[in-house]
Parts: sequence; structure tokens; C-alpha cells
Amino acid sequence: MAELKTYRMYINGEWVESSTGEYFESHNPATEEPWCLVAKGTAEDVDRAVRAAQSAFENPQWSSMTYTQRGKLLRRLGDLIAARVEELAVYETLDNGKLIREMRGQLQYLPEFFYYYAGLADKIHGETLPIDKPDLFAFTSREPIGVVAAITPWNSPLYLTTLKLAPALAAGNTIVIKPSEVTSASLLELVPLIEEAGFPPGVVNVVTGFGDPVGNALTSHPLVRRIAFTGGPESARHVIRNSAENFARVTLELGGKSPNIVFEDADADNAAMGIIAGIFGAAGQSCVAGSRAFLHKNIYDRVLEKVVDRASKIVIGDPMAAETEVGPLATAGQVKRMEHYVQAGREQGARLVYGGKKPEAIQKGWYFEPTIFEHTDTQIRIAQEEIFGPILTVIPFETEEEAILLANSTNYGLAAGIWTNHLARAHRVAKSVRAGIVWVNTYRSISPIAPIGGSHWSGYGRESGYEAIYEYTQSKVVWVNTSADPMPDPFIMR
Ligand code: NAD
Repeated sequence: MAELKTYRMYINGEWVESSTGEYFESHNPATEEPWCLVAKGTAEDVDRAVRAAQSAFENPQWSSMTYTQRGKLLRRLGDLIAARVEELAVYETLDNGKLIREMRGQLQYLPEFFYYYAGLADKIHGETLPIDKPDLFAFTSREPIGVVAAITPWNSPLYLTTLKLAPALAAGNTIVIKPSEVTSASLLELVPLIEEAGFPPGVVNVVTGFGDPVGNALTSHPLVRRIAFTGGPESARHVIRNSAENFARVTLELGGKSPNIVFEDADADNAAMGIIAGIFGAAGQSCVAGSRAFLHKNIYDRVLEKVVDRASKIVIGDPMAAETEVGPLATAGQVKRMEHYVQAGREQGARLVYGGKKPEAIQKGWYFEPTIFEHTDTQIRIAQEEIFGPILTVIPFETEEEAILLANSTNYGLAAGIWTNHLARAHRVAKSVRAGIVWVNTYRSISPIAPIGGSHWSGYGRESGYEAIYEYTQSKVVWVNTSADPMPDPFIMR
């Protein structure tokens, strides 16, 4: 076997081994073979990285840099990424098995996020306040928070990192990033571009490794002031508990159980394609996966037939091949998870309409068939729990009120799709459905200009869009006494 590529960590502008010198393997999901070795970080490494980030935060090289200059560095980084899209996309596909064309598309668009926050960097300003007291003048400014701990999952490594990195740096913070243990490579490949863009040492640090110990040590570290977490609810619970140690401000981008609601007046072809895009795009490994399709009873059979027909034609195979539509899942554990949910669906009375197993024609790789269940009981596990894979549940409804009730019947609240040509209904349902992102007659659209985030079990806080900059700054108010008179009575509040 060829020698595996080896990745060290990046702390304080240097490539370093972990404190134990240990490495772990990262696998290619299409072949099941290890393809690289990644440094296995420890709590000691986290401490080194956080201290480096704290020093960089205080260093005038960064702290006195103008916001305009920081914006220029971000813009340069965007340009450098634009020139390396092909290479970075290959690393992402090697690590998580997602289609090369999807990763290429994501990375081609990634510079726009850096440009957006580059533009915002010198527009983060406070206000003068019309204070209701004579002789007092007050104004606010927005200041960076300090060391940011960013933790990401494996499904879109660089995109999800960018949603944290770009606003954090635009606002003048420093950052320690822990990528998913499943997909560390593309971020480590990005590091030379961050250096080349001109960010001072210690401003961006990467510690690779597992949730325990690296994620735990990072989110509980006393010098961390801000935690940006994307992942599942179980890890999020640890993160919140850990933040009790440092009182860091936390944002959580968690999962979803997003509904795609198709009304009888919808364009059936478009709706069927929207459902396919929502659940089989990225093999369902997307936080916004439209994993529940609610179909009005009058068009139920027609739309379901179209969805099954298209699902049956999906080309499953090598994620590097141009014609592939669904690649492997990211880990062997993901395949087991799909098998578990297919069994749970059957046991709880759902009817398996399509798929439900590993594709027989493919011998190697962590593949799973696009799978469709239909059922009426919305309380069963496959209709309530985030599966995070290519499993769709299809449920009929009769009235608009019922559709909204059913759509809102899980603990999640991330995204929703509404398919209708009735303008007033589109607005009514968009307002009533519990989701931070609503798409009408489309699905899975993103832009740096639009916020991303949810409520309840889907987390809190927003990434992307201008609101995100507020998540990385804090307000300071300055009061100035403009009176020439002596100080008034010191024993009453002024
Ligand atoms: P995960 O929760 O298992 O892991 C996410 C990250 O958390 C990894 O880097 C992991 O090492 C780290 N982690 C694990 N335990 C930790 C701990 N105790 N302390 C700190 N960090 C810890 O999730 P995953 O399987 O990598 O990703 C899938 C999940 O991510 C799904 O639930 C999906 O919906 C969610 N997700 C959400 C969004 C969003 O924007 N809302 C985007 C993509 C994925």
C-alpha cells in the first residue's frame, strides 16, 4: 500500500505534532481504505492553541489592525481559495465521499462568503445614543469578543468552517478550529492559503482530533470566550455543559427533520424534484435535508409516483465520476445507522416503497440506496428523529391547518419547503411553519447574504448574513460627562 499522506496540526503559525506524537487514520468512504493520517490532538495541544490565539488577540499586529485591512486579508483569502477550488474539492470528496461536483460547486461559491464579510469588516459600527439626561453624552461601539472555539461536522467541512471563520476574523477575534475527526484534511489544506493571505501567527489555529478530549478541552477552556458549534444534539449538550466552565457565548447549528409540504395546486414535477433534491442531494447528509414529505391527498399518488420514479433512476457510485448522483455515506457507522432506521420504520408499521439496503451491485464503499417509506403515523421514530441519510418518509394530509400542525410536530425547527402556486397560502404557511429557513417552490438555496439557523433542537444563533457579525462582537457603551458643574450628590444614581 502507498504511504499515507500525513497531516500535523497548526498552532501559532507552526505545523506541530500532537503532544503524544500520535496519529489516526482518515478513510475514503468510496473505498473504505485509509488515505491519510491526522495528528491526534490532546487537551495539552488545545491549551497551546488557545494560549496562542489569546496572545494573537492581544498582539497589536492583529488588535490594532484596521478593520479595512482585516477586510483586505479576507478578500485575499477568498481570491486564493478561488484559485485552488479543484484541489480542495478533491480533498473534501476523499474524506467525506460527497460528490466531487457538489464539493466543487460549494467551493466555487465559498469565496463569496469571504468577500461578503470582507465588505462588512469596516461597517461594524456603534451608535450615538439620544440619552435622556442633559450633560451626558453616550455612544456604543462593537468590540471583538476574544478567542473563538469553532467546532464543525463532516458533511460540508470548509463551507461550515467558513460560516464561522469569516465573520469571526472580520470582527477582529482569533480562532481555534477543531474539524470533525472524519474530515480534517481540507481545512489543513486551507491553512497555507490563510498564511499566504497574511493573517498573523496565532490568529487562526487548527487542533485535530476527537470530541473527547479535543472538543471537550476546547469548549471548557478558561480563555475561550465564544463557541461556534455545528453538529448533533448529543455533542451540543456536552458543549453547553462545558461552557458552564468559561461562560463562553455559544451558538449551536444542529440538525433538523425538515418538512417539504406539497399542496394540491403545486406544480407536481417541480415539487417531486424539490423532494428529491431535499433528501437525496448529498445522500441526505445535510442539516437541512427535507426528510419528511407531506403530500396533499388529492395529488399524493401522482407526486409519490414521480419521486419513486426519479429515485429509481438515481446513479449511485464513485463520487469522483461526473455522472454520479449519490455517492457513499461518510462512515461505516452511517450505513449501520440507515439499516437501524429502516428496521425501525418497518417495525413501527411504515411501508417501504423503495430502497432500504446497501446497493447489491457495489461491493466496496459505504453506500446506501435512496430509501422511501410511506405512513400516516407521524409519531414513529423515522418521522421524528434526524436520520442524516437518504431516507424519506412520505405522509398524506388534507387541510392546510393539518399540514402546519404535522410539519411542526417534531422537536426540530431548521428548514421547510412549501410547494404551492397560491401566493397567499405560501405566505400563510411560511409564517406558521416552525423553521429558521423557509423555501417556497425551491429547496437547498444558500447565500452569504441570507442567515442560517433554527430553533428548539435545531439550535440557536445565526450564521451567514450580516446578523452573524453581531454574534462575533459585543457592545460597549461609553458615557461622557459634558458638564462644567461639580459632581452632583454621589449617593443617588445619576
Ligand atoms: P457530531 O455532533 O457527532 O460531531 C460534530 C463535531 O462535534 C465533531 O467535530 C465532533 O468531534 C465534535 N464533538 C463531539 N463530541 C464533542 C464534545 N463532547 N465536545 C465538543 N465537541 C464535540 O455531528 P456529526 O455526526 O459530525 O455531524 C452530523 C450532525 O451535524 C447532524 O446532526 C447535522 O444535522 C448537524 N449539522 C448541522 C448543520 C447546521 O448548519 N445546522 C450543518 C451540518 C451538520
